[in-house]
Amino acid sequence: MQPFEDLELLDCPICHGPGLIEEENGWCLYVQCLDCGCHTAALSYNSEEERQTAARQSVSSWNIGKVVHTGVGD
Ligand SMILES: [Zn+2]
Repeated sequence: MQPFEDLELLDCPICHGPGLIEEENGWCLYVQCLDCGCHTAALSYNSEEERQTAARQSVSSWNIGKVVHTGVGD
């Protein structure tokens, strides 16, 4: 596992809380808000290269506000 390349993560598009890249058991990742729990769609990957691409795509979805909110915690 490599650290992610330099990615600019904006504040949560919903609540302006801090966002974090979360990985699920080393096969998919998404960006999630630490405050309200909204997140981008999970992207799966099979290689380190795909992992970096998935991280980049998740971050760009996050930064344009393409997130889903489950309502948990409201
Ligand atoms: Zn939020």
